[in-house]
Amino acid sequence: MKSRPLAAFQLKIKMILKGMLSLDTPIEKLAFVGPRNAPRLKKLGIKNIRHLLWHFPFRYEDFGQTVKIVDVRQKGEMVSITGTVTDIKNTTAWKRRMAITDAIIEDETDTIHAVWFNQPYLEKTLSPGTRVSLSGKVALDKRGFYLSNPLYEKIGEDELAHTGRLVPIFPETEGISSKYLRLLVRRTLKQIGPLADPLPKKIIKKYGFPELRTALDAIHFPKSWPEMDPARQRFAFEEILLFQLRALRDRRQLQSLKAPKIEFNKDLVSDFVRRLQFELTNDQRLATYEILKDLEKNYPMNRLLNGDVGSGKTVVALIAAVEVAAVDYQVVFMAPTEILAKQHFDTIRKCLSNKSIRVGLLTGSDARQYPSDEITKEKITKKLMRQKIARGEIDIIIGTHAVIQKDVTFKHLGLVIIDEQHRFGVEQRMKLIKSQGPVPHLLSMTATPIPRTLALTIYGDLDVSLLKEKPKGRQEIVTRVIPHTKREAAYKFVGEQVRAGRQVFVICPRIAAPAPEGGEHLPKRAGNFNTDKPLSQSRLIWSEVKAVTDEFEKLSKKIFPQLRVAMLHGKMKPKEKDKVMSDFKNKHYDLIVSTSVIEVGVDVPNASVMMIESAERFGLAQLHQFRGRVGRGEHQSYCLLFTTDSGRASYRLRALEKINNGFELAETDLKIRGPGEFTGIKQSGLPDLAMASLSDLELIKKARLEAKLLLKEDPTLKKYPTLLARLSQMQRLVHFE
Ligand code: ADP
Ligand code: MG
Repeated sequence: MKSRPLAAFQLKIKMILKGMLSLDTPIEKLAFVGPRNAPRLKKLGIKNIRHLLWHFPFRYEDFGQTVKIVDVRQKGEMVSITGTVTDIKNTTAWKRRMAITDAIIEDETDTIHAVWFNQPYLEKTLSPGTRVSLSGKVALDKRGFYLSNPLYEKIGEDELAHTGRLVPIFPETEGISSKYLRLLVRRTLKQIGPLADPLPKKIIKKYGFPELRTALDAIHFPKSWPEMDPARQRFAFEEILLFQLRALRDRRQLQSLKAPKIEFNKDLVSDFVRRLQFELTNDQRLATYEILKDLEKNYPMNRLLNGDVGSGKTVVALIAAVEVAAVDYQVVFMAPTEILAKQHFDTIRKCLSNKSIRVGLLTGSDARQYPSDEITKEKITKKLMRQKIARGEIDIIIGTHAVIQKDVTFKHLGLVIIDEQHRFGVEQRMKLIKSQGPVPHLLSMTATPIPRTLALTIYGDLDVSLLKEKPKGRQEIVTRVIPHTKREAAYKFVGEQVRAGRQVFVICPRIAAPAPEGGEHLPKRAGNFNTDKPLSQSRLIWSEVKAVTDEFEKLSKKIFPQLRVAMLHGKMKPKEKDKVMSDFKNKHYDLIVSTSVIEVGVDVPNASVMMIESAERFGLAQLHQFRGRVGRGEHQSYCLLFTTDSGRASYRLRALEKINNGFELAETDLKIRGPGEFTGIKQSGLPDLAMASLSDLELIKKARLEAKLLLKEDPTLKKYPTLLARLSQMQRLVHFE
């Protein structure tokens, strides 16, 4: 029999081993991750070993072959050398109080200097006699060639991770460097045992993908480019396959639910359409038909109405809303902002002939009702509105997020319409289902044109209706990128427009200037695989980006002291915002300086100029949306894009000068900036790597095909437990959002 201490010890060892082996082991359990680094890693989304191993490099530094020191003769070249440190010391650059570490490295052919800045500890780390591998750029000064700030690594028995090969560069954050991540990943890969591969064997074979373990090694520490590429492909395929599987399963789940069947009501619909002041476009007709057909089914509709700004989505949604409301089911119409909710409320009021349909408005700060109750003259409070909704006395409820809060219950909800928020999906609707009754239909609308590949990946088989055509008589908006030398001229032009009676929007990317010392940075962009800078450099300092409050000061005091200038941003109270917006609409202001809160839907027909500051901070699709705020009336309208960036960004912005079609712009944006910039894509939870592959239509087609085949063969995926586990993990992740 074993002694108790021995048994306990063995158990402990076993647990440690087990802990090390599992992908679910929390990151804190790793040696090298102390209480300081754990929270930092979490900032990068790394909570366990799986997250760590799936935190892929976004690029690789190619140091190629190790050379002899005697052969280092080309300034600017990237080289790797190995040798022994013969001397190392710190000095201080007197001008900038910067620590400089200067070392001499020797191999059998020659010696060379290496210089580091602000890393004085290196004097100790790389003490004379240390064998090192260095990778970096060759520089030249009076003393001759030297390596400037090279990556370094002591040569021990470990295979080199940081130098002398393709060196992985990871997304970093404050306190977590690529160097540290390389160490962590390398250790973990060494200690982790065999891994079950979620990809079925036959798929791996069919496409010649590397197996999981091989692929993990190859993506983190590739020996060559040809080894790395298939690994990336494999992981991208895997993620997209999972998304497809989820989409297909969601769809099937949806179709197993019961929804109210709403029969097509020809008289009602044609009466409503006849009362409109315009003819529906063909696209509007077709979309309406598709939606009304969906409503006739006994399972819930899940349709996206995708149409450019001004293509007339609202009226299509209203036709559906009226049809549903007429048979005594409730409709909730959710808008992203108060301003927009009120605008929709007003539109509905104007179009409704059927006085038996009762419309309510409910936002965070306001409640209204139509037709208003003239007899009792009761004051509609938010509380009363909620009660009326619960009692089923309101048929169409228009509002902001306030309408899906816990305290709002519906009597018999039949249709949910979500404007401008295509990221709301099945989960959001699930929130709305509180009783056991039928599940409401869902219509989501967006003006962000989504390139086909993205739509296929993120939404799978979601039904999409497209409004590609604009109502007749819409003008083209003249768009110009304005370099800062032309700013004066642009202001002059703006002044003339105002004198002619027009109004002007000015959009800035942020509200206020940061505190002077502020190390505040713009949020990191996801999925920027196509930029050639490391993330830390591609971050923009806030102070370079125009702020609403500064611009307001400048425009109202210096540039246009004679004009009436207003300011609008998200930190203002809803009441203030509304006041400013309606005053602007009623021409009490000539010019309004705003953040992107203005982005969605606001209708001011007299506005003819849209000026956008720091335009490079926005995606093309978003800029196109801003542009859609003007040109809504009879006046020729203009969009002026200001940028201080004269290179790549200005090239991108010029696409707006030529292209007036939102779908075309979206494709362009996808090519130039990658998919991370699309509204809703980040929220989709799609990993960066898969995002980077989203312009690869072939890969997506393959993944769709395999997802369908898999589910056909084995609807429950019982035969593929690892795949199934990954799938439910992903589902959990999304549900937690
Ligand atoms: P969006 O698709 O951006 O939400 P809206 O639904 O707000 O567009 O419509 C923009 C404007 O176009 C509204 O004033 C609306 O009344 C008008 N409109 C919609 N459809 C047509 C049409 N077929 N012909 C003319 N005007 C239309
Ligand atoms: Mg709209």
